[in-house]
Amino acid sequence: MFDIYGGPVFNMARQQFLQAADILEIPNDQRDRLLYPKRAIAVTCPIHRDDGSTVVYEGYRVQHHLSLGPSKGGVRFSPHVDLGEVAALSLWMSWKCALMNLPYGGAKGGVRVDPYSLSHKELEALSRRFMQELIPFVGPHVDVMAPDIGTNEQVMAWFMDTYSNDAGRTVTEIVTGKPVSCGGTAGRREATGRGVTHLIFRASEEIKLNLSQSSAVIQGFGNVGSVVASELYDLGVKILAISDHTAAYHDPKGLNIPEILKYIATHGVLKGYSTEALIDPATILTIKCDILVPAAVERVITEEIANKIECKILAEAANGPTTVEADAVFAKRPDIFIIPDILCNSGGVTVSYFEWVQDLQQFFWEEEEVINRMTKIMDKGFYETISSAKQLKTTNRMAATCAGLRRVHLAKQARGLFP
Ligand code: GLU
Repeated sequence: MFDIYGGPVFNMARQQFLQAADILEIPNDQRDRLLYPKRAIAVTCPIHRDDGSTVVYEGYRVQHHLSLGPSKGGVRFSPHVDLGEVAALSLWMSWKCALMNLPYGGAKGGVRVDPYSLSHKELEALSRRFMQELIPFVGPHVDVMAPDIGTNEQVMAWFMDTYSNDAGRTVTEIVTGKPVSCGGTAGRREATGRGVTHLIFRASEEIKLNLSQSSAVIQGFGNVGSVVASELYDLGVKILAISDHTAAYHDPKGLNIPEILKYIATHGVLKGYSTEALIDPATILTIKCDILVPAAVERVITEEIANKIECKILAEAANGPTTVEADAVFAKRPDIFIIPDILCNSGGVTVSYFEWVQDLQQFFWEEEEVINRMTKIMDKGFYETISSAKQLKTTNRMAATCAGLRRVHLAKQARGLFP
């Protein structure tokens, strides 16, 4: 059923769901209702290019469920977007929000475009047209968007402005991850990376790893990877290797992260920073280190790579970086402490929740309060996950997925089925 949700990413999310549903002993006749998205919207977004031509981009928004509140999740601009990927990401958002006890269902959106191929003006036109097409299907109490790969604060400001123009008033609570100057919260931009670093610290306590004498490898140097690199560097961790979509660098003596951040601030990408440290990006995940942080895209850790990985903590900052086959390898490698994606990167959506609450109340918090509340919620999710993994005799990923799925299942059961 539902052949429209095809492809390897959705298949992976479905397999993970079925494993968790088996552990929770969810009856077969209730599984499809929990697995398949409530609705999926496909839109065409035509824009004028600067050269006068017209071009159409395909866009999607998948709202997985609305049983706990509005649906919530990012929008990515990437040439790899398709419906199956967006649907899979919406499922992971559902388990993530429920695991962290946020009053949200999961959603995700995407436009199939290389945002780096567009001018500022074209990017604005595309962002506004995407939101315009989705106005009938979103709302502060229906579906709330946020940034993801290829989108940022500026894109969220355009989304908010487009929705507000239609409404005839300013509706800051329609998206999160906005600039602080127009209803964003202090600490949202750094939140995901900060949360990842915090849980790496918690994991290091569990396995008795001294962070100031440890090393890390980080794949992805965007909004998440760059913050993790900088925070770990400040904690005294030696950053052995980093990469983005343009280059990968490895220095056994440790990379100078503050210098690289300065380079990025002017050049935008890693390409051109160094010639001596340049390596093949395909080799980065198998460099021996204490902390491995995939912070780029899904399905990069395959079965083959899982067998070769040499790390003590695997902190999944990206969504869905580890395939189901790789997970089977890790199940036989208790030497690696995995912080699963829906837990590891949940700082982002947690602070998005704070932004939404502040916008609804028109009452704004200090950054310190944002950080304290975020770490409190993340600690709860972390300790709940590791204790339930022990109790259920399963992996951290399954324990986290089960905790999220259980909450969604309970809400749906209590509310019943209409009509
Ligand atoms: N795109 C982020 C994620 O995957 C953030 C979503 C949000 O803040 O709503 O968790």
